[in-house]
Order: sequence, then C-alpha cells, then structure tokens
Amino acid sequence: MENSLTSEVQRLSGENIDLCYHCHKCTAGCPVVQSMTYGPDRMLRMVTLDQRDELLQSQDIWLCAGCYTCATRCPNDIDISAVMDALRQIAISSHAPIGERDALLFHRLFIGVVQRLGRSHEAATLGLFKVLSHTPKIQDMDAGFNLFIRGKVPVLPHYSAKAAADVRQIFKKSESEEN
Ligand code: SF4
Ligand code: SF4
Repeated sequence: MENSLTSEVQRLSGENIDLCYHCHKCTAGCPVVQSMTYGPDRMLRMVTLDQRDELLQSQDIWLCAGCYTCATRCPNDIDISAVMDALRQIAISSHAPIGERDALLFHRLFIGVVQRLGRSHEAATLGLFKVLSHTPKIQDMDAGFNLFIRGKVPVLPHYSAKAAADVRQIFKKSESEEN
C-alpha cells in the first residue's frame, strides 16, 4: 500500500519510485555517498517505508549535488535528484530540523543572487556564504585570491537589466503557480 510520503514525493518529483528494485547501481556511482548516512538507494526504500522523520532530518537530502549520475545509471530511469528535490521541499514546508544548515543557506544565497542579478555570481555567493555561515578561513582567502588572479571568479557581475527582469518574471511565475 502506498503511504503518504510516497505519494507526496511522487507528486512533487514526477518519479515512480515503486519501479526501484534496489539494484544499488545509483549508490555505487554517487560521488558524495561517502559523506552520506544512507545513500540514494536506501533513501528510496525509506520513502516507501514512510520513515519520514529520519529522512527529512537527514543530511543526505542536502548533500546530494544534483549531478544526475544516479539517474543515468538507473535501469528504471528513476531521477533520484528529482526525488531529493522533493524531499528538500517537504523538509522545508514541514519545518523539519534541517540536517545540513549550511547547505540550505548556500541554496538560499545562490537563488537570492540569481533573483537579483539575473545570473549567478560566485564571488557574491561565496563571500556572503563565508560570512553568514561564520566559516571564513585563511586557506579560503588564499584559494579565493588564486581564483581571482586567474580570472575564474570575476569580482563584478556581468549585469544586464533585461536579463535580471526576465529572470524575476520567471521567479514570479513560479511563485504564483505554487500558490
Ligand atoms: S539504480 Fe534505480 S533501480 Fe537501482 S537501486 Fe537505484 S533507483 Fe533503484
Ligand atoms: S544526484 Fe545526488 S544522489 Fe544522485 S548521484 Fe548525484 S549526488 Fe548522488
């Protein structure tokens, strides 16, 4: 029988997780599995077992880098990154304790910068992240300086008022569709 977490995840992600037969290919290829507690294969099983609290409070849903490696390896074409997105949405909307607060902060800063500038800007995102997460380190400054002198991280964004207005429209449309 389908539980409420399964239906919620399937509705939000558009993925049929009942197709999973736990071959483990997704977990075997996941680049961040070493840092995860469960890994993608086991997380799908936890959804079907309705282990809501463990999953929504887990750091794994925030550690997923959305790289789609699991989706390309899955013999049943299950896009687990979409499932992870759904789990993050459910965790936020149900006010679950966030398993990896810095990851959520990074997501919010990234989206905030894109919303304001119409595109990403690494220097602004990383600078704000380092200050707000209270993790500025001398090694990071060295790394940042090296990226800057190689021209990899421009200090000023390539701003276009039209692009910013277009992106704001996309956000507006998406917010009105959610409500
Ligand atoms: S690769 Fe696909 S079928 Fe295999 S365990 Fe992962 S999600 Fe399930
Ligand atoms: S999308 Fe997430 S779960 Fe899938 S392989 Fe990449 S990091 Fe791992």
